[in-house]
Amino acid sequence: MLKKNNKNIVSEFRRDLVSGDWILISSLRNTRPHFLGKKEKVKKKALIKNCPFEDPQKSGNADPVLQYFKPSSKDWFVQVIPNKYPLLLKNKLRASFDLEGVHQRIDAIGFHEIVITRDHKKNLEKMSPAEITMVLRAYQERYKNMEKSEYIDYILIFHNKGELAGATIEHPHSQIVALPITPPDISSSISGAGDFFKKYKKCIHCTILDREIKEKKRVVFKNKHFITINPYASRVPYETRIFPLKHSSDFEETSDEELTYLAKSLKDALMRISKALKNPDYNFFIHTASAKVKDVPYYHWHIEILPRTYKWAGLELGTGIEVVTIPPEKAAEHLRSVL
Ligand SMILES: [Zn+2]
Ligand SMILES: [Zn+2]
Repeated sequence: MLKKNNKNIVSEFRRDLVSGDWILISSLRNTRPHFLGKKEKVKKKALIKNCPFEDPQKSGNADPVLQYFKPSSKDWFVQVIPNKYPLLLKNKLRASFDLEGVHQRIDAIGFHEIVITRDHKKNLEKMSPAEITMVLRAYQERYKNMEKSEYIDYILIFHNKGELAGATIEHPHSQIVALPITPPDISSSISGAGDFFKKYKKCIHCTILDREIKEKKRVVFKNKHFITINPYASRVPYETRIFPLKHSSDFEETSDEELTYLAKSLKDALMRISKALKNPDYNFFIHTASAKVKDVPYYHWHIEILPRTYKWAGLELGTGIEVVTIPPEKAAEHLRSVL
């Protein structure tokens, strides 16, 4: 087991002063069983009896920080536990920015938690909207808890399904990572949205959604509170995003009624993707405003779903330009037709 003060452990964010991007250097993770350097492959059909999330505490995980039960059930349905193999140090030290010549660093302090649902074989698309609502409520409750910490700048909620999406455990689970910095992808999208707001005095996402609703070509689904689209400049084939129709910058402020509609939209999107692409691996994440601000007019929170149909190769890694072989208009047409 790791000792907290082990000098060999590096866990810090380092800034690339040329691009301005933050990179996380963390040797905390080398201890987990499926580290790629050991050339171990994720077992294809992991047996349920060996699954660490069937009875998380029996498998050596800490007690849950949150548990939800279904009405009239004694068994938990959602439980949230601290990650046994965290990317970040515990939230104890003071965060520090050092400028060592050209090297800028900050201690990788924060939270890293896992949101587990009870049934090994029941991925989100197979859950009922009421069950998905419980998962979303767990995200929201933990978010609100983590944002109280003064060190936390950004909280990312994400879900990986399958090996191509980076999931090392088959059992359905999501992760919540609370970071002391705002990650590069988010700071660039927040600053892009901020520039648009300065120029036009309105939210870029509200503007895009108005246009999408008029054009209809890339709209997949819409209900009372949410709209699902395939973005105009999709980064992977069938990239799908869910936006609240009413402007809101903060996922955690979603009301109870809205949460039930979000669960329906998420189920709908995942079911369509699963049918259209024959049960692909996927990632989804929630992009919301910084934990340090509330209710900003320039940012509009949303869920991004990225089906994993291929791995990045040289062109993508070298240029950052992703090659999308299916236009989003075609993808949306296909997704509309499968259900
Ligand atoms: Zn399991
Ligand atoms: Zn907006």
